[in-house]
Formats: sequence, C-alpha cells, structure tokens
Amino acid sequence: MTLSATSHAAASPAKQSLSPLESEPASTELDRILPQAVELVKQFVRSGQDPETFVTPWPSIAALRQNVQLDLPDVAAAPRGGEATDAALLDAIRLILDNSVNPWTGRFLDKLYSAPTPVGICADLVLSTLNANAHVMSASPMLSLAEERCVEGLCRVFGFTETKPDGLTMPGGSSANTLAVQTALANIFPPFREQGLLGVAAYLAEKHGRTGSAARPLIFTSDQSHYSLDKAAISAGLGLSSIVKVPCDETGRMDPEALSRLLESAVSSGSGSPFFINATSGSTVLGSFDPIPALSALAKRYGCWLHIDGSWGGPIIFSPTEAFASQMAGSHLADSITINPHKLLNVPLQCSFLLVRDAASLGANSLDAGYLFHSKDARENAAMKTMGCGRRGDAVKLWLYWVRYGKRGLGEHVDAGLALAQRVVDYIRTEKAETMELGPLASPLFLQVCFRPKPRPGQGRGEASIEQRSAATRHTHRELQQRRRFAVDFAPLPRGIGEFVRLVVHPRTKWHDLQELIDQVDDIGQAYWSQASV
Ligand SMILES: *Cc1c(COP(=O)(O)O)cnc(C)c1O
Repeated sequence: MTLSATSHAAASPAKQSLSPLESEPASTELDRILPQAVELVKQFVRSGQDPETFVTPWPSIAALRQNVQLDLPDVAAAPRGGEATDAALLDAIRLILDNSVNPWTGRFLDKLYSAPTPVGICADLVLSTLNANAHVMSASPMLSLAEERCVEGLCRVFGFTETKPDGLTMPGGSSANTLAVQTALANIFPPFREQGLLGVAAYLAEKHGRTGSAARPLIFTSDQSHYSLDKAAISAGLGLSSIVKVPCDETGRMDPEALSRLLESAVSSGSGSPFFINATSGSTVLGSFDPIPALSALAKRYGCWLHIDGSWGGPIIFSPTEAFASQMAGSHLADSITINPHKLLNVPLQCSFLLVRDAASLGANSLDAGYLFHSKDARENAAMKTMGCGRRGDAVKLWLYWVRYGKRGLGEHVDAGLALAQRVVDYIRTEKAETMELGPLASPLFLQVCFRPKPRPGQGRGEASIEQRSAATRHTHRELQQRRRFAVDFAPLPRGIGEFVRLVVHPRTKWHDLQELIDQVDDIGQAYWSQASV
C-alpha cells in the first residue's frame, strides 16, 4: 500500500497521465510505433502486387474461424510503455493484415469497390489524427470546408446551377437514399415532420379526398434497383407495401412506359399516392442507367420527388467522353442525388454524398439543439441536415483525390474502366464464343460483365437447361473460391435466365488478370461440362 506516486513516476519517467492510454508522450509513442505500423502496411500493399499472392488467405469463412482467434485480454500482454508493449500491438496488426482480403492484388473483382490509392491511405491517417467531428464547423473547420467545397463541386458537375443546392456526406449510399426518402416525405407532405404518417393521411384526405389505401405514400423504383430503397421504406414507417417495382427492359433500364402505367393505375385504382421516383444510375447487377429525362417528366406530372441513386454509376458524369457522361443527362432535373466516391472513384470506405437541388429541402431534417448548434446556418452545422449527429469528415478524402487527380483525372479513370470492360466483352465474344455465354449487358456497356460457361457444341449435351447452366455457374464460383486467385460474385439475372458469374471491371484492373480469369472460368466450365456429360 505504500507504493508512492513518486516511485511510480520514477518507474516510467515520461508518464504524465494516470490513464493507461497515455503511458508516455504521444509523440514519443508515435515515433516508435508509426514507422513499424507503416512498414507492415507497405508490406501488405507490396505483397498485393506480387502475382503469387492470394486474394483471400482462407478458402472459406469456416476455415478462417478455425484458424484465427482474436484475444480480448483482461490484462495487456506486456508492461505498459516501451517496446515490449509494442510487440503485442504490432503482432495484432500483422494478424489482421495477414488474414484479410488483399484488394491491392487487383484481383478482388467481387464487389463494387476495390483498393483505394495511396492518397486514400494518407487521407485516412490525416482524418484519424485530427479526429474532428464534422457535425459542427467549429470542431472541424477544415473538414467542414472540404465538405462544403466537394458538395459545391459535385452539385456543379451534376448541373445544379439554377438553384441554391446543398448536400452532405453520408455513411454510405444506403443512408443517403434513406435520407432522400425522409427528406422527400417532409417536403412533399408538409405535415410529415410534425404529425408523421397520420398527418400525411389527413393531408391527403383533405387535399385530394384520398383515404384508406389511396392515402398510402408510394415509392416507384425499378426492379433492378438497390434494396436500400426498400429499407428506406421500412425505416420511414411506410413499409414495404409502399414500394412499387417498375419493370426494366432486357438491358436493366427502367421502362418509362411501365412507370407511367403504374403511376396512373395507382392513382386511378386508389392503391396509393405516388410521391417518390427513384432513377438508378448504374444498377448493382447489370450497371444500367435509367432514362432520367423521361422519369423527370413523369415526376413532374405526378408531383413526385425525383431521386437519382448514382451510388455506383454517378461518377460517369466525370467522363470526358460525351457518350459516357450523357448517361447522366438530365441529372439537373433531380431533386436529390446519391453518389458514392468510395466505389468507382476508389476513395476509401466510406465516402458517400447526398446532394439536393434546393438547399431548403434539407431544413425538414433540422432541429434546434442549443447544446450543439449555436447558429441556424446549416453550412456551419452540417449535422442539422441529417438524422445523425457525430460525423466523420469523409469529404476530405474526396477533396484530396480531387486535388491529386483533378476532375479530368477522375474522368479518365472512369473511361479507362469502360474501355477495359469493352475489351472483356470482345474477348469473350471472339475467343470464347463456343464455350461461354454472355449475360445481358447494359447498353451502353458499363463496368459489369456477366457470363457463364456453356457446353461446347457437339459435347453431347444438347441444350443444357437454365438450371444446369446455373449449376455450372455455382460450381465455377466455388472452384474459383477454392483457388483463391480471383474473387468474383455470381447473381441471378432478370427474366429468369438463371445465375451468371458477375465480374466487376475496375478501371485499374490489369488486362492480363482479366484474361486469366476468363480463361480459368472457361477451363473450369469445360471440365465441368465434360464430366457432367458422362
Ligand atoms: C452500393 C449501392 C448502394 C448502397 O451503397 P452503400 O454505400 O453500400 O450503402 C445503393 N445503390 C446502388 C445502386 C449501389 O450500387
């Protein structure tokens, strides 16, 4: 009981704080651990560039669970402070890196995001160092300014130039879409904010004589759109019955005539009150872009909010090639737009924006909180615009990319991906015509290519059924997973044509990797069909 403060201090002379989180000055600790952590990070990136490195260290999640345990120690592994403590920390970092998917291989083609760039790693380091909360500008002056500038820049690119637009970062495209639905509800139905859906029902009864199911607010979105729209309906209290799925053409684009019919019949049959139309720009499976001007005309006719979910395809607006950028023609007509720089633009997760054509529309989400917001200026209180409070300064990551590559560079990046995707399609069409089947493609082509092996003519299989072809797809996917050289996904495609391998072509993917992947799928498929025919 006699251990005095002096003797304790003598044991660790640098110690100033009673907290174990600060056993020595931060700069001393950082001088020691950061170079070592950075070395591990650099090794991970270097190893990703080694053609022999597996994309994923384990063939299955079960194998990972069997082989890797994460400790939650009661007591730290070594005495506080100094190099002995660092060893446990660095081992833990190494454990994470060694057992993770390595996106730096360039062979992780499974999802809509891929490796960031080194600029992204630096940006994350800066963000963690500042640890500033972007809810109010006084806490995060530069992060908030970066957010303001990026919002302005994105609004200009999308053509929000006639109004006073606004926007903010959101923790992902799903959150951005959800906020768009909430914002639309409050703007289309003024009583929503105070009275909720009961107020909306009363408003519709009074204004249009709609009662019962006719007073159900409806969201129209394509049957190829992202599930976050459905989740937004759940979280807004509308429920899934408020979602009307609009059919697409064979390339995955929403059919505006079908939308028109569904809007008309909802109103005339009294099944609901349309208030929200979502245009998908870059659908999740096929990469298709809905025709914005046609949807905008219908939104105007029916008094609906027009939202563009450009989570995946939005960055095509940066393309210097008119034929590509024009996929977003009419974006200025939207009331709100979601874009995820953390997908196609390779900004580190997460970095997503919701933009609105009219800044005032976000006022529907704001509340006075005297303990946080000391002015009514939403530009200085970004958290006013959303349902969240604490916010990471994600915009600074996009800003650093924008500084580093310029708008032009971001556009050329998109073009590089589109050229590569075309090369993939051409390769399959010309070299693999006999043994591979291409799925429906977005028109014009975007960055997803769906394909699957098919039996060679004369292999004695006749016409394999859709179920047999889907089984071949699943077999191929399993085999690729076992090999661990490529990560790709598979998905059932619209119109009941069964499952296909879905390849996401990222702009920085190496052509020789793509070629090798297609060749592997071909080999696996041919082996499968020749066995299956025995
Ligand atoms: C990925 C995606 C989303 C969701 O974005 P998150 O950032 O993953 O929440 C929404 N819509 C589309 C079209 C997407 O591709």
